[in-house]
Amino acid sequence: MSGVAAARPRVRSLSIRSRLLLVVGLVSAFAMTAFAALALRAEQVAARQVLAAELQVVATLLANRSTAALLFGDVALAEENLAALAAMPNVRRACLYAADGRRFAEYSSAGVTAPSLCPVQWTAATTDGGLLRVEVPVAPDDAATAGTLVLESSLAPLEQRLAAQIERWLLTGMVAVLLALLLAYGLEPLITGPVRRLAAVAERVVAGDANRARAEVESRDEIAELALAFNRMLDRLDAQARELREQADYTRVLFQQSPLPIIVIDARRNVTVDANAAAVAIYGFHDRAALLAAGVQDVSTALQYDGTPSGEAIKPYTAAALAGQPQVYEWRHRRPDGSEFDAEVHLSRFDSGGTPMLLASLFDVTDRKAAAEALRETNTALTIRIDDRTRELEAANAELSSTVEQLRRTQAELVRSERLASLGTLVAGVAHELDTPLGSVLLVASTLDDELALLREQLERGELKRSTLVEFLARQAEAQSLVVRNARRAAELIRRFKQLAVDQTSEQRRVFEVAEVVEEVMATLQPRLRRTSHRLELAVPAGLAMDSYPGPLAQVLTNLVMNALVHGLAERPGRIRLAAETAADSVRIVVEDDGVGIPAEHLARLFDPFFTTTLGTGGSGLGLYIVHSLVEGTLGGRVTVESTLGHGARFHLLLPRTAPAASTGV
Ligand code: ATP
Ligand code: MG
Repeated sequence: MSGVAAARPRVRSLSIRSRLLLVVGLVSAFAMTAFAALALRAEQVAARQVLAAELQVVATLLANRSTAALLFGDVALAEENLAALAAMPNVRRACLYAADGRRFAEYSSAGVTAPSLCPVQWTAATTDGGLLRVEVPVAPDDAATAGTLVLESSLAPLEQRLAAQIERWLLTGMVAVLLALLLAYGLEPLITGPVRRLAAVAERVVAGDANRARAEVESRDEIAELALAFNRMLDRLDAQARELREQADYTRVLFQQSPLPIIVIDARRNVTVDANAAAVAIYGFHDRAALLAAGVQDVSTALQYDGTPSGEAIKPYTAAALAGQPQVYEWRHRRPDGSEFDAEVHLSRFDSGGTPMLLASLFDVTDRKAAAEALRETNTALTIRIDDRTRELEAANAELSSTVEQLRRTQAELVRSERLASLGTLVAGVAHELDTPLGSVLLVASTLDDELALLREQLERGELKRSTLVEFLARQAEAQSLVVRNARRAAELIRRFKQLAVDQTSEQRRVFEVAEVVEEVMATLQPRLRRTSHRLELAVPAGLAMDSYPGPLAQVLTNLVMNALVHGLAERPGRIRLAAETAADSVRIVVEDDGVGIPAEHLARLFDPFFTTTLGTGGSGLGLYIVHSLVEGTLGGRVTVESTLGHGARFHLLLPRTAPAASTGV
């Protein structure tokens, strides 16, 4: 087995032709040998049978001829008969036994030697294995046996025949193997030919000069399958090659037509090996060749931004990029015409066929840098301007503050003088208003005085008539009522005026509930209200406390309710509503009626002193003026009115729950 195993690689290294011949030779030799062995064996068996049959015939003949000798005990005759066997050289010995088993006669090819060649009893030990033995009975008739004849022959003729046969077979075998080898040799191209042609096609494909080369399919065997598979592989390769070519073309176009300037540097030789049109343009060369011939120094300014010579400055970037870290940096470039430009360079490494290459793409940042510089300058200028403005503003602000302060003082001054002025106006107004009733009183009084003097004169002279006296008395009564009316009016005016002039500090300030004040007011007004059929609605929640002046508040509410009665609801019964509610730190009070309302042109003057529509019928026009003064002064709040003619009037009071500290003044 180990021999076979060792032979296997040796056989593998043989050509197909040699292997074919080897296989054919071995197979035919084996076949011939096997066939010859079988044939020889058959031949041997057949020859042995023929020999045995021959011997049987001879033995039978001899037995017949020996019958008489045996019967008559004639040994000589018997031996003479047996001596005839000399004609058959292969018969080694013949033994004739009598019926009682006694040895009667003998024959041997080499002559009888004493005591006997024939054994008494034939056993395996007495028979030579390589010999043929035949035993026939000697019988004169069928009934009795006179003796037995045993013939023993050598196999020599058989062996001779076999040797001759082997010789023939050997010769035939050798011729057959030779013929088989010759045939195999002649037919070998049938098998290896297509393979060789396939190899030739492959060679052509490898050489690349015949991309369309395809293996011929000559038969329908395994070689044809191989050729088909080979062709399919070639088709596939063709398609791939086409794809690759297209891809390469595509990449080339991309590279060439990219608006981004790109150059490729062979890092080992440190030369530019490729550049696209955009690169040629930005670097300012006439053509690509000129750019490829240029080095770093030819496209850069002598010094970079930080003052390093360009040749030195580039080194760390290329080293890092070659180490596999893509670099992005700004670079100051110079064109052959001397102009300069700034570019952001992206440098990265790639390998082409084992050579380290550097790919540099450029972004022109000249404008960006200029813009950034301009922006920086603008910023600086702006900062300076802002500082200036800030200073100016601060000065203006300070000025404004002092002006405001001045204004505030002036305003306080003005308020004071305004108050004085309004007080003056009020005093003048009151004086004027008092002038009429007091003038009337004076006129009536002086008239009465004159008439009285006349009456006294008549009485003294005794000329006073009764009718004159009655007349005087009547006039006197009339004058008196006139005086009383006018005096009352004057007194009323003075009372009102006194209300205004009350020193607020003397008013009692305390914590009270709005409802409590409202109740008080209603109690005071009750006699007036009882005479009417108006509806009075009060909506004042309990617990609405104020820290303020209850007296002035009562006065205000009284005036407003009185106005509703006197003006709003003078001619028809209606509704008066008084409501209060909290509003943050204040209390909102509304006094409204659904009476005649106030004409729009009156609204602006409503709170002016002496504005009244009931002049001569008791109105002084001070009621709302007093309301305004008390609300906005003592109580520190606001009063407003809204009204539409024919739809009632509504007065709003907004009063701080805690009144401001009392101030002296009007
Ligand atoms: P005084 O109150 O001094 O006796 P007066 O009531 O006329 O006189 P104000 O209380 O100041 O004076 O009122 C001014 C005017 O406003 C009134 O004459 C009246 O025309 C008008 N007025 C006030 N309240 C109402 C109201 N509720 N409805 C209609 N008109 C009103
Ligand atoms: Mg009034």
